[in-house]
Formats: sequence, structure tokens, C-alpha cells
Amino acid sequence: MKKLSIILPVYNEEGNLLKLFNELDDVVRKINLDYEMIFVNDGSKDKSLSVLDEIAGRNKNVKVIDFTKNFGQTAAISAGIDNAAGDILIFIDSDLENDPRDIPVFLGMLEQGYDVVSGWREKRWQGKLLTRKLPSSIANWLISFISGVKLHDYGCTLKAYRAKFVKNVRLYGEMHRFIPIFISWNGGKVGELKVNYRPRQRGKSNYGILRTFSVILDLLLIKFLEKYMNRPIHFFGGLGFASFFLGTLSGLAAVVLKITGLRSFVATPLPVFSALLLIVGVQLIALGIVAEILMRTYYESQNKPSYNIKTKINL
Ligand code: UDP
Ligand code: MG
Repeated sequence: MKKLSIILPVYNEEGNLLKLFNELDDVVRKINLDYEMIFVNDGSKDKSLSVLDEIAGRNKNVKVIDFTKNFGQTAAISAGIDNAAGDILIFIDSDLENDPRDIPVFLGMLEQGYDVVSGWREKRWQGKLLTRKLPSSIANWLISFISGVKLHDYGCTLKAYRAKFVKNVRLYGEMHRFIPIFISWNGGKVGELKVNYRPRQRGKSNYGILRTFSVILDLLLIKFLEKYMNRPIHFFGGLGFASFFLGTLSGLAAVVLKITGLRSFVATPLPVFSALLLIVGVQLIALGIVAEILMRTYYESQNKPSYNIKTKINL
């Protein structure tokens, strides 16, 4: 029988955990799958751990991973993925903002052939149109635009995945929200589902508007990695050549001005520009070579293939 792993990052959620567990329990009892719930306690400073301990004592499908300190939501989700035994993984927030009753619909969509299904909290930020909804919509639009994957709510934790697509994804920074992008770039099929949204009743949110900036920096990084990870010399070398070219032009212009008697070398900034651009050009090409060496160490030391195979025939 197929197995479902539900992964829950937990940071200071003592007042939400029991209700959440009961809601989840109602849902999983009604679906015909083996299941486990993996709560990752991300260094909570309240009584979350003892509440989880108590729940796990009564139910052996409940598993708890307790971090030594707060490593962040992305790390908590990573630990959940690494320890999950399921064929299907579902991530869900533990502050009750997501509704476990949406889970069966997610499973239905995976059944239809999607490799990842991402939730969309359409009703979030009602009443905070200008301060939260607008920035969030712009950020989501920007992520869609840059990544080429069209989703409305990357930040929604409630998502469902076919395990084999997430198992080898490595997550840093705020990147758990980008997993659908990695999967799409690897040839997986991405779907979206409108989900119920309930504002947080207990505990407090850990993030404000500033998170948008970290998310956008992470996005630029993954876009760079996607495009140039296998060939950093093309990126740095390209910039290097451009700089070298401009440096040469600038140097020639200075020489022409000097020969024609219009300006002496010291009367224009061109020789300084030229020297600067030529040096930067050489440095960038050298940086590209160093990046190539790093990239090879990365792939070859871990025997990481630079491709993904869907199926093999007679092999
Ligand atoms: N969380 C976590 N580690 C952190 C911050 C948050 O595991 O350092 C958990 C938190 O308990 C919740 C989820 O991640 O289950 C989302 O956090 P939060 O509700 O604060 O963020 P938001 O709803 O604003 O995205
Ligand atoms: Mg929340």
C-alpha cells in the first residue's frame, strides 16, 4: 500500500498542536493510505515539545524530530523530507492557517498525474490590501516571471509531492517555497489548488514584510544556478569579455585623442577607465575558471549526475 508522509514544521505552536493533530487524524482515518505525521520541532521556546511528546505517546504514526536550536522553517522541512518514508509527501503549517480537510483533494490531483500540487490561499491578507497583499502579489508574480512556473502563492506551505521528486532536492535559505520550481525545471508536472485559509488564532507569525527581500535574493540565486551551474565560465567569462572589450575601446579612444592632439592622456578619464576595465575583465575570466573548478568538485565528489532519467528500456 502507498504511504503518505505529512511533514509539519513547528516553532512555538503549543496552543495549536493538539487541535491540529485532531483535525489531521480525522482526515487520515478517512483515506485509504498508510500514513505518518512527522512534526519537526524547530527549537521552540514554549511547551510545543511536551505537547508533541504526549501526542506521539498515544499514536505511533506520529513521529517527532527535535532540533537543538531554531534552524528555520526551510531546515525543518528538509529534515522532514530526509526522514520521510512515504511515496507521497505533504507539507503543512502547524499554526492551523492551512486546513487539513484540503488534503484529500491534493491526493486526488497527484492521482491525476501531477508530480507536485501547490496550495493557493486566495483569501489571505484580506483587509491588508496595500501593506501585505500587494507586495505578496508582486513577489509571486516576479517569481513566476523569472522562474517560468506559474503559481499564485509560493509561500503556501500546504503542498503535496511525489516523493521521488523531492527526495534529492537540497534546500537552503528560504528555498522550501521554490521546490515546485525545481521540480518543474526537472521535468515534473506542477499543479495548483485553491485552499481554505484560516487566519492564525494562537501564537504569532514569525515573519514580516522583510521576508519578501530574502525570497527575491534566493530567487536570483536559484535562477543563476539553474542557468549557469554547469557552466559558470560562460557567465563570468561573458562579463569578463564585455569588460575587456570596453576597456580596449576606451584605451583606443584615449590614444586617438592623443594622436589627433585633441586631449592629452592626463586630460581625460579614458586611460583610467581602460586600465580598470581590462583588469576587471581578466579578473572575471579568472573567477569563471575558479567557479568551474568548484562546480566540478561539487558534482564529481558526490557523483552527482548532471541529468535526470525518467525511464529506461531494456537496461
Ligand atoms: N516555523 C518554523 N521555524 C521557524 C519559523 C516558523 O518551523 O523558524 C514554522 C511555524 O511553526 C509554522 C510555519 O513554520 O508552522 C510557518 O510559520 P509562520 O506561521 O510564522 O509564517 P507565515 O504563516 O507568516 O508564513
Ligand atoms: Mg503562519
